[in-house]
Amino acid sequence: MPERAVLVGLGAPPRRLLLDVAHELQAIFGPPIEQGPGQERPQYAFNKDRNQYHSTAVLRRLAQSRGGAAVPVIGLTDADLFVPDAPFVFGEADRDANAAVVSIARLQHGPDGKPADPGRLTRRAAVEAVHEFGHLLGLSHCADARCAMYLSHKPSDTDRKGPGLCLTCRGALGLP
Ligand SMILES: [Zn+2]
Ligand SMILES: [Zn+2]
Repeated sequence: MPERAVLVGLGAPPRRLLLDVAHELQAIFGPPIEQGPGQERPQYAFNKDRNQYHSTAVLRRLAQSRGGAAVPVIGLTDADLFVPDAPFVFGEADRDANAAVVSIARLQHGPDGKPADPGRLTRRAAVEAVHEFGHLLGLSHCADARCAMYLSHKPSDTDRKGPGLCLTCRGALGLP
């Protein structure tokens, strides 16, 4: 387990959301989660044909922007992220870069298309941040649909899981 980790807002995720997600990560994993300096919306990763942001490019830039490579960095953004072989991603993690990113773009609406209430959005963002941080720590996807490491395809998957990890995943990290 790292001694600390850094959470960085990219673009305009609500300040309150950043604080709540940091709090949740710390509660589940243990190390202090510091707020890093906020960054602009990641225009360098924008793909105008898709009107989305390439998450791998965001990870690369995040990894360059922090101090020591031993400190995991997690970006939280309102930009809609993609990888080439998927219509969108809720997030991505790169263990080699020790960096992860989570997007709230696909989490902020209910099935009726109306904005999800702030409490629900916070919970979803926290669950997906736990998921990506879990990947940074070496966890793979989990078959337990209530574990944060279960792979979400839609917001309702995220609502069903977490906020924490199942016993097996906790055990793999040496958490009680
Ligand atoms: Zn995953
Ligand atoms: Zn699990």
